[in-house]
Amino acid sequence: MSTQKLGRLEVTFETANIQGVATTRLQLAGRIDDSAPLSSFIDNINTPAVIIDTDGVAFVNSIGVREWMRLLRGLAAKGCAIRLERIADVLITQMNMIPDVRGTATIASFHAQYVCGACGAEAAPLIDAGQYAAQLAAMQAPQLPCPECNSVMELGDYPERYLTLFKA
Ligand SMILES: [Zn+2]
Repeated sequence: MSTQKLGRLEVTFETANIQGVATTRLQLAGRIDDSAPLSSFIDNINTPAVIIDTDGVAFVNSIGVREWMRLLRGLAAKGCAIRLERIADVLITQMNMIPDVRGTATIASFHAQYVCGACGAEAAPLIDAGQYAAQLAAMQAPQLPCPECNSVMELGDYPERYLTLFKA
Protein backbone atom coordinates (compact mmCIF):
# COMPACT_ATOMS: atom_id res chain seq x y z
CA MET A 1 0.00 0.00 0.00
CA SER A 2 1.31 3.44 -0.84
CA THR A 3 -0.07 6.93 -0.39
CA GLN A 4 0.81 9.94 -2.46
CA LYS A 5 -0.27 13.55 -2.57
CA LEU A 6 -1.52 15.04 -5.81
CA GLY A 7 -1.97 18.67 -4.87
CA ARG A 8 -4.81 18.65 -2.35
CA LEU A 9 -5.81 15.08 -3.10
CA GLU A 10 -4.46 12.10 -1.20
CA VAL A 11 -4.36 8.89 -3.21
CA THR A 12 -3.87 5.53 -1.54
CA PHE A 13 -2.94 2.78 -3.93
CA GLU A 14 -2.90 -0.95 -3.23
CA THR A 15 -3.25 -4.18 -5.13
CA ALA A 16 -4.99 -7.24 -3.82
CA ASN A 17 -6.46 -10.48 -4.99
CA ILE A 18 -10.23 -10.19 -4.64
CA GLN A 19 -12.16 -13.37 -5.37
CA GLY A 20 -9.30 -14.60 -7.52
CA VAL A 21 -9.05 -11.40 -9.57
CA ALA A 22 -6.02 -9.11 -9.35
CA THR A 23 -7.52 -5.79 -8.29
CA THR A 24 -6.12 -2.32 -7.81
CA ARG A 25 -7.79 -0.30 -5.11
CA LEU A 26 -7.55 3.48 -5.28
CA GLN A 27 -8.76 5.46 -2.33
CA LEU A 28 -9.14 9.20 -2.92
CA ALA A 29 -9.51 11.86 -0.23
CA GLY A 30 -9.52 15.63 -0.42
CA ARG A 31 -10.05 17.81 -3.47
CA ILE A 32 -10.11 16.76 -7.12
CA ASP A 33 -9.11 19.99 -8.85
CA ASP A 34 -6.49 21.57 -11.15
CA SER A 35 -3.67 20.25 -8.96
CA ALA A 36 -4.73 16.58 -9.17
CA PRO A 37 -3.68 15.01 -12.51
CA LEU A 38 -5.61 11.79 -11.88
CA SER A 39 -5.10 10.47 -15.39
CA SER A 40 -1.40 10.02 -14.55
CA PHE A 41 -2.48 6.84 -12.73
CA ILE A 42 -3.65 5.09 -15.88
CA ASP A 43 -0.13 3.82 -16.67
CA ASN A 44 0.40 2.53 -13.13
CA ILE A 45 -2.68 0.32 -13.15
CA ASN A 46 -2.23 -3.05 -14.78
CA THR A 47 -4.82 -5.25 -13.12
CA PRO A 48 -8.02 -6.46 -14.82
CA ALA A 49 -10.15 -4.96 -12.04
CA VAL A 50 -10.06 -1.56 -10.35
CA ILE A 51 -11.98 -0.32 -7.33
CA ILE A 52 -12.12 3.42 -6.76
CA ASP A 53 -13.30 4.63 -3.36
CA THR A 54 -14.08 8.36 -3.13
CA ASP A 55 -15.54 8.42 0.38
CA GLY A 56 -13.08 11.13 1.46
CA VAL A 57 -13.56 13.44 -1.53
CA ALA A 58 -15.05 16.76 -0.41
CA PHE A 59 -14.76 18.88 -3.53
CA VAL A 60 -14.46 18.55 -7.29
CA ASN A 61 -14.25 21.34 -9.87
CA SER A 62 -14.70 21.20 -13.65
CA ILE A 63 -11.03 20.45 -14.35
CA GLY A 64 -11.16 17.74 -11.70
CA VAL A 65 -14.22 16.21 -13.36
CA ARG A 66 -12.36 16.20 -16.67
CA GLU A 67 -9.38 14.43 -15.09
CA TRP A 68 -11.71 11.91 -13.46
CA MET A 69 -13.35 11.15 -16.82
CA ARG A 70 -9.89 10.80 -18.42
CA LEU A 71 -8.92 8.28 -15.73
CA LEU A 72 -12.09 6.21 -16.19
CA ARG A 73 -11.84 6.31 -19.98
CA GLY A 74 -8.16 5.33 -19.89
CA LEU A 75 -8.86 2.39 -17.60
CA ALA A 76 -11.82 1.26 -19.69
CA ALA A 77 -9.63 1.43 -22.82
CA LYS A 78 -7.20 -0.98 -21.11
CA GLY A 79 -10.09 -3.36 -20.52
CA CYS A 80 -10.34 -2.77 -16.75
CA ALA A 81 -13.57 -3.56 -14.97
CA ILE A 82 -14.18 -0.50 -12.80
CA ARG A 83 -16.18 -0.56 -9.59
CA LEU A 84 -16.97 2.64 -7.72
CA GLU A 85 -17.41 2.34 -3.98
CA ARG A 86 -18.65 4.92 -1.45
CA ILE A 87 -18.99 7.60 -4.14
CA ALA A 88 -18.79 11.09 -2.68
CA ASP A 89 -21.89 13.26 -2.78
CA VAL A 90 -20.05 15.80 -4.99
CA LEU A 91 -19.30 13.09 -7.57
CA ILE A 92 -22.60 11.19 -7.68
CA THR A 93 -24.44 14.43 -8.49
CA GLN A 94 -21.98 15.04 -11.36
CA MET A 95 -22.58 11.49 -12.61
CA ASN A 96 -26.28 12.18 -12.79
CA MET A 97 -25.72 15.30 -14.90
CA ILE A 98 -22.95 13.97 -17.15
CA PRO A 99 -23.11 10.25 -18.05
CA ASP A 100 -19.37 10.15 -18.93
CA VAL A 101 -18.49 10.86 -15.30
CA ARG A 102 -19.68 7.35 -14.57
CA GLY A 103 -18.56 5.89 -17.89
CA THR A 104 -18.55 2.09 -17.91
CA ALA A 105 -18.15 1.77 -14.15
CA THR A 106 -20.36 -0.27 -11.85
CA ILE A 107 -21.69 1.60 -8.83
CA ALA A 108 -21.49 -0.25 -5.51
CA SER A 109 -22.53 2.51 -3.12
CA PHE A 110 -22.80 6.29 -2.85
CA HIS A 111 -23.46 9.12 -0.43
CA ALA A 112 -26.53 11.35 -0.65
CA GLN A 113 -27.77 14.38 1.27
CA TYR A 114 -30.56 13.50 3.67
CA VAL A 115 -32.64 15.56 6.07
CA CYS A 116 -34.74 14.54 9.03
CA GLY A 117 -38.25 15.98 9.03
CA ALA A 118 -38.60 15.39 12.78
CA CYS A 119 -35.46 17.06 14.19
CA GLY A 120 -33.98 18.89 11.19
CA ALA A 121 -30.68 16.98 11.25
CA GLU A 122 -28.75 16.71 7.99
CA ALA A 123 -26.51 13.80 7.04
CA ALA A 124 -24.89 12.17 4.03
CA PRO A 125 -25.50 8.46 4.62
CA LEU A 126 -24.10 5.71 2.43
CA ILE A 127 -26.60 3.98 0.14
CA ASP A 128 -25.88 0.44 -1.03
CA ALA A 129 -26.82 0.31 -4.72
CA GLY A 130 -27.21 -3.47 -4.66
CA GLN A 131 -29.38 -3.66 -1.56
CA TYR A 132 -31.73 -0.92 -2.82
CA ALA A 133 -31.50 -1.70 -6.55
CA ALA A 134 -35.27 -2.09 -7.11
CA GLN A 135 -36.12 1.14 -5.30
CA LEU A 136 -33.37 3.13 -7.03
CA ALA A 137 -34.55 1.87 -10.43
CA ALA A 138 -37.98 3.29 -9.54
CA MET A 139 -36.27 6.63 -8.68
CA GLN A 140 -37.11 6.25 -5.00
CA ALA A 141 -34.49 7.05 -2.40
CA PRO A 142 -34.55 4.56 0.49
CA GLN A 143 -35.77 5.89 3.81
CA LEU A 144 -33.00 5.74 6.38
CA PRO A 145 -32.92 6.22 10.16
CA CYS A 146 -31.88 9.64 11.48
CA PRO A 147 -28.55 9.40 13.37
CA GLU A 148 -29.82 11.99 15.87
CA CYS A 149 -33.40 10.98 16.71
CA ASN A 150 -33.82 7.66 14.86
CA SER A 151 -36.97 8.73 13.00
CA VAL A 152 -37.15 8.40 9.23
CA MET A 153 -34.85 10.57 7.11
CA GLU A 154 -35.70 11.51 3.53
CA LEU A 155 -33.54 12.54 0.61
CA GLY A 156 -32.93 16.28 0.98
CA ASP A 157 -32.84 17.03 -2.73
CA TYR A 158 -34.56 16.22 -6.02
CA PRO A 159 -34.31 12.46 -6.69
CA GLU A 160 -33.12 13.30 -10.23
CA ARG A 161 -29.89 14.73 -8.80
CA TYR A 162 -28.97 11.34 -7.33
CA LEU A 163 -31.00 8.62 -8.98
CA THR A 164 -31.26 9.41 -12.71
CA LEU A 165 -28.45 6.99 -13.53
CA PHE A 166 -30.23 4.11 -11.78
CA LYS A 167 -33.52 4.67 -13.62
CA ALA A 168 -34.78 1.46 -15.14
ZN1 LIG B 1 -33.91 13.33 13.37
